[in-house]
Amino acid sequence: MMNMPLTVGSMLERAEKFFPKKEVVSRTLSGVHRFTYEEIGKRTRRLSSALERIGVSQGDRVGTLAWNHHRHLEIYFAAPGMGAVLHTINLRLSQEHLVYVINHAEDKVILIDEDLLPLIEGIKDRLTSVEAFIIMSDNDELPETDLSPVHSYEELLSEADESYEFVKDIDENAPAGMCYTSATTGNPKGVVYSHRGIVLHGFAMALADTAALSESDRCMPVVPMFHANAWGLPFAATWLGTTQVLPGPQFTPKLLAEFIESEKVTVTAGVPTIWLGLLKELDEGNYDTSSVRAVLCGGSAAPSGMIKAYETKYKMPFLHAYGMTETSPLVTLSRLKSYQEDLPEQDKLDIRAKQGLLVPGLEMKVLGANGEVAWDGEEMGELLIRGPWIADEYYKDERTEEAFRDGWLHTGDVVTVDNEGVIKIVDRTKDLIKSGGEWISSVDLENALMAHEAVFEASVVAVAHPEWQERPVACVVLKDAYKDTVSAEDLQAFLKPQFAKWWLPDDIVFLDEIPKTSVGKFLKRSLRDKLKDHLLSGTK
Ligand code: ADP
Repeated sequence: MMNMPLTVGSMLERAEKFFPKKEVVSRTLSGVHRFTYEEIGKRTRRLSSALERIGVSQGDRVGTLAWNHHRHLEIYFAAPGMGAVLHTINLRLSQEHLVYVINHAEDKVILIDEDLLPLIEGIKDRLTSVEAFIIMSDNDELPETDLSPVHSYEELLSEADESYEFVKDIDENAPAGMCYTSATTGNPKGVVYSHRGIVLHGFAMALADTAALSESDRCMPVVPMFHANAWGLPFAATWLGTTQVLPGPQFTPKLLAEFIESEKVTVTAGVPTIWLGLLKELDEGNYDTSSVRAVLCGGSAAPSGMIKAYETKYKMPFLHAYGMTETSPLVTLSRLKSYQEDLPEQDKLDIRAKQGLLVPGLEMKVLGANGEVAWDGEEMGELLIRGPWIADEYYKDERTEEAFRDGWLHTGDVVTVDNEGVIKIVDRTKDLIKSGGEWISSVDLENALMAHEAVFEASVVAVAHPEWQERPVACVVLKDAYKDTVSAEDLQAFLKPQFAKWWLPDDIVFLDEIPKTSVGKFLKRSLRDKLKDHLLSGTK
C-alpha cells in the first residue's frame, strides 16, 4: 500500500473540496455568525500565511487562549497546516500555571480572545518565549492593552494570502498539537499530539459503533477547545463536513438549550457537570430537544440517574465515554451489544452507565495485585492502554517515567472488567477510599446519591478516621425545591439498601456548591482539605 502521511491540513482540505457550502455556526461576544467551510478554508489559509509572515515557522508552538468559536477552529488547522504546533491553553488555569505552561511549551505567539486579555496582561512580564500577541475581536478597533507587540487577527487575515498551500511533505509523526492536563497536584503535564494520532482519532470518532460522527450531524462541542482538543471533535467534524455549532464565551445552560433547539443540534459533548446544569434548565424551561441523537458525556463518571432522566424525560440518548488528555481522548465508549437489546431496561441502563468497550485500534490491560484481573466485574486493577493515538511521554517532563512504562500508559484509573469486556471505572487511584484495608468506590456512592430526586450534585471523598484510616463523607448539593425538606438521614436511608453497611458515608454534608476543576469536574482535593479533620475533631 502507499505510505501516504496522515496530516491535519488534509482534513480541512476535504471539507473545502467536498463540503464548501456546509456551515460552522459560531457565537462570539457580538452574537452568532455563520461561515461556510469554503470561507473557513480561505480564512485558515490566510491565517497560516499571516503567521508565517510574522515569523512562525515549522515546529514553533502557537498558543491559544480562546473559547469555542470559528477563529479558534481556524487556528486548529492553520498552525498544524503550516507545520507549526497548536497549543490550546486552558483559560481557567491559575496565573502560576498559565506562566508555567506557556514558558514550558515555549509558545512563540499567542492568540487571545479580547475578553481574556487580562489573563495574559497580568503575567506578561513573566513570559519568556512569546514574541507576539494576536487579539481576536469582532471590532475593527483593538481594545486598550499593555501587551506588545500586538496584532489584530482580522487585520492580519485581511492582508494575507488565501491561496496558501498547507505543507505536504511533513512527517505524519511530527507534532501537530499540544495540551496540558489540568494539574491536581504539581504543574500541569504536557501531551503532544501527532498529525497521525489526530487523523486516526478522527476515524475512531466516526465509527458506527463509537460516536458515529457523520456529515449529517450538527455537532455542538460544549467541552472546551482547550480540554483535550474538545475531544477531537473540531478535527473530526471538519474532516467529515459535519455542521459545527460553537457556543462561544461564557455560555449558560439556557444558551445551550436554546442552541440545541434553534440549531437542531444532533450531537453534543461535555463533562457531567454541564449536563447536570442543562438538565435543571430543561426541567424549568420548555425546549424542543428532539433533534439530539447523542449526548456524549465523559471526563468523569456519568451518574446513571442523570442518564435515565435525559433519556426518559427528554428522549435525548446518552453516550458515556472515557478518556484522558493523554489519549486524544477517546478510549472506551458505552453501547449495548446487539444481543443485549432485549435485556430489562434497568440492566441496559446499568451497562450503559459503565464506561464501555475499548474502541477499535487500541489495546488494554488491567493489572491487579496478582497480575491481570479476571473479567468478572469484581476484581479491581489499574487500566493500562496503548495505541496509535495514545501519548508515549509527557513533554519534557520527568513524570513520564511514572506513567509510561513497558510500552503502556498507566492511567491511574482503577477499573473492573465484566465478562463482556466492558470496563467500569471504580475510581481514580487517589480518590479511592481505603477503609480498614478495604476499598470503597467514591464513584459508586456519588452515582447512587445523584439518582435521588432531591440531589443536584454529590461528591464523596475519603476523610481521615482514627480507627478505620479513611471513611467516606458525602458532600451534597440539594435541588432548590428540596432544600428544607430532605435531611442527611433521608439520604442515608436511601443509600442503605443499595450498599454494604461499611460502605455507607459516615456523614453527609450539605453545601451550596461543589467546587470544580478548571475543566468542570468536582474538585475533590478541595473537599478533602475542607473536611480533613471532620471525623477526628468531634465536629461529627
Ligand atoms: P484532567 O486530568 O485535567 O481532569 P482529563 O480529562 O485528561 O483531565 O482527565 C482524565 C481522567 O478523567 C481519567 O483518567 C479518569 O480518571 C477521568 N475520566 C474520564 N472519563 C471518565 C468517565 N467516563 N468516567 C469516570 N472517569 C472518567
